[in-house]
Amino acid sequence: MNQEFDAITHLFQARTPFRHPTTTLGNGDDASVHHIPENMEVVISTDTAVEGVHWPKDMSLGIAGSRAINAALSDLAAMGATPAWVWLAISAKDKPSLSQMSRGIVQACVTHHIELAGGDTVNAVVNSITVTVGGLVPKGAAMRRNAAIPGDKVWILGDLGLSAAGLQQWLQNKPSGRFISHFQTITPLYKQGIALREMGIQSCIDISDGLLQDLNHISQASQVGIDIDIHLIQKLDSYQNLTSELNAENALKMMLGGGEDYALCCTAPDTKHHLLTKLGAKHIGCCNKGSGVQLVQHGTMMDYNIKGYDHFD
Ligand code: ADP
Ligand code: MG
Repeated sequence: MNQEFDAITHLFQARTPFRHPTTTLGNGDDASVHHIPENMEVVISTDTAVEGVHWPKDMSLGIAGSRAINAALSDLAAMGATPAWVWLAISAKDKPSLSQMSRGIVQACVTHHIELAGGDTVNAVVNSITVTVGGLVPKGAAMRRNAAIPGDKVWILGDLGLSAAGLQQWLQNKPSGRFISHFQTITPLYKQGIALREMGIQSCIDISDGLLQDLNHISQASQVGIDIDIHLIQKLDSYQNLTSELNAENALKMMLGGGEDYALCCTAPDTKHHLLTKLGAKHIGCCNKGSGVQLVQHGTMMDYNIKGYDHFD
C-alpha cells in the first residue's frame, strides 16, 4: 500500500470512527458532506500551529497535537457553538513526527466526541498543524464581537496568565514548574460557551492573544470603550495563584497580556448578573460610550505598556 495513505488510515481514520449524526459522507472521499438540521447554522473556524512558533521545539509533539485541536475548539466556544467536525491539514518532517502529532490529535477528537471528517497530510521542512473546526448553533444565536453595548459589564470565565507563566517556566528550563501544565493543556470552554449563549449572552470572545489585546477586538467591533478594573483582576484566583511565584507586576503582565489563556470573555447587561455568577464567571470591568480599552484603578486611568502577541511585530 502507498505509505501516505497507509499512514492516514492507521494514524487518523481508523482511530477516529465517530461520525456526527449530521454527516452523510464522512472521511475518505474528496470532501465530506453534512446535512444542516433545520433552524441551525454552521459555525466554522480555522487555526494554524507551527513548531517553533506556537510550541517550543523541545516540547512533545503529542502535546502539540492536542493543543492544536483544543485551541481551535476554543473559537467555537467563543461563538457558543456545539463542536461537531474537525478537518486537519498536517505537515510533518518525518513519519515519527506524524505519528506523535497524530496521538494528541486523535486523543483530543475522542475526548471531545468530534468527528475527524477529513484532512490533508504532507511531508515538509517544519511540523505544523492546521485545524478547521465546525459546530452548530441555533439560527441567529451565535455570540459575536460586535454586540457589546455601553453599560454592559465585562465578565471572564477561566484562567488568565497561567499558560503564559507556564511557557516562561518551560523556556527557563524548569520542567517541573507549577504552571507548565497550564501551557501544555488547553481546555476549550465550549460547555461554558453554550451556557452563555443559552442565557442570552450576545457578545463574547476567547482570549488567545492576551486579555487587553483581545478586548480591543470587542471594543472596535462594537464601538464601545472598555474599562478593566485592576482591583477586580487582583481578586481572580489566577492572580492569587500567580503571585505565589511571581511578583505582582509580572503576575498582572501575564494576566493582561500573556495570551494562550483560552478563557472566555463576554459582556452582558446587569440582568444576567445572577446567571453569570452561578456559572462561575467573574466581573472584571464595564463597557462605556468611549473607545478603546482602559485599565482603571479607583476610577482613574492607569498607564500601561502591555502588548499582546503580534506575529508580525
Ligand atoms: P485528496 O487528494 O482528494 O485531497 P487525500 O489523498 O489527500 O485526498 O486524502 C485521502 C483521504 O484521507 C481524504 O478523504 C482526506 O480527507 C483524508 N485525510 C488525509 N489526511 C488526513 C488526516 N491527517 N486526518 C484525517 N483525514 C485525512
Ligand atoms: Mg480529491
